[in-house]
Amino acid sequence: MVRGADFPFHPVRMAKLILHPGKERSVMRRHPWLFEGAVAKLDGRARSGDTVEVLAHDGRSLARAAWSPKSQIRARVWSFDATETIDDAFFKRRVAACVARRTALPELSGQAGLRLIHGESDGLPGVIADRYGDTVVLALTSAGAEKWRSAVVAALVKATGCARVYERSDSDVRGLEGLAPATGVLHGPALDGALVFEEYGLRLEVDVEAGHKTGFYLDQRENRRLCGELAGGRSVLNCFCYTGGFSLQALAGGASDVLSIDSSGPAIAGAQRNLALNTRLDAKRADWLEADVFSALRELRAAGRRFDLIVLDPPKFAPSAAHADRAARAYKDINLLGFRLLNPGGLLMTYSCSGGVGLELFQKIVAGAASDAGADARILKRLSASADHPVGLAFPEGEYLKGLLCQLA
Ligand code: SAH
Repeated sequence: MVRGADFPFHPVRMAKLILHPGKERSVMRRHPWLFEGAVAKLDGRARSGDTVEVLAHDGRSLARAAWSPKSQIRARVWSFDATETIDDAFFKRRVAACVARRTALPELSGQAGLRLIHGESDGLPGVIADRYGDTVVLALTSAGAEKWRSAVVAALVKATGCARVYERSDSDVRGLEGLAPATGVLHGPALDGALVFEEYGLRLEVDVEAGHKTGFYLDQRENRRLCGELAGGRSVLNCFCYTGGFSLQALAGGASDVLSIDSSGPAIAGAQRNLALNTRLDAKRADWLEADVFSALRELRAAGRRFDLIVLDPPKFAPSAAHADRAARAYKDINLLGFRLLNPGGLLMTYSCSGGVGLELFQKIVAGAASDAGADARILKRLSASADHPVGLAFPEGEYLKGLLCQLA
């Protein structure tokens, strides 16, 4: 018998993913996801993460995508050029382009902490890369990204010159793709304690091994800066403070006092270490409370406390639209309490990072909260993630973080 084209280790012909009639439309609009229900059949063989050719029902070739047999998102498009070869050179080009785009705005160039690759919106579905100084933290969340790990790492090292790449592929969404968690150093020396990087004049420690996401919430960078600019002479309440980013900017901006609340002991401990790293800040103006925000806000109200600036940056209450109702109640609750705790003229910076709650719905929830609190309030600014977390115009799902800066009469 001659070893034929179907011998498993022989380079086989690329499988063809054929769409149901009409399902080519979203691909033609450059949306990168192909759901299970859009796929008529897979012609040929493909393992998890393999590149497949995407064809319309009538045989028109549309794109090249990564096959993910376990996920409802059955394939994610790498290239809308159906002739583009997906190989190491492809990742070198794409990664270099992502890094080069980060110089487009003055607020991005020169940042030590910067998201370099933002998944689908950067043309690399399932790939997240955050830089902290000379370390890049990489999170791979899709079958295709998993397959090309070493190509992505090599491309990142080449494009950034960074000394270390550390993997934090441990988010729950990997389970949906049939992937186990993976963490550890992929390039460069072992970690030697926590990393410290600088953000708008503050030194911040980031625990890339055990911190949330890649260790820090880079998406709120510009909003933390705005908080600092607003905080002068004001008493500040920072809810869901994590490692204290908003709190420290508020102190640096001259807040009279800052109370920060988080339910995580390690997060509060990290915040206190961050405060200690910035010796010019007046630690006596900072109070830290390890507590559940929902009950702490009620207790503050019962105690008659009032603040001039309140930040509400909760975790994702609604991972998808299916959770929107329960999430809406939670958002309304904290925002209502927030309005009640504000002094006249006070400011509320309120956020939702739930993909399942859009800006319009979030604004309605906040309006409902103000109305129930009997608050006469207005929106001064709409807020969003910093520009290193871009939103692909063809990928509105990428717009997860929205915020409102409101002012009480
Ligand atoms: N604003 C932060 C990021 C907040 S992340 C920054 O700029 O870095 C959300 C935080 O909410 C996490 O630290 C988590 O520990 C905390 N958290 C989640 N549920 C909570 C609750 N019910 N009460 C208090 N904190 C909570």
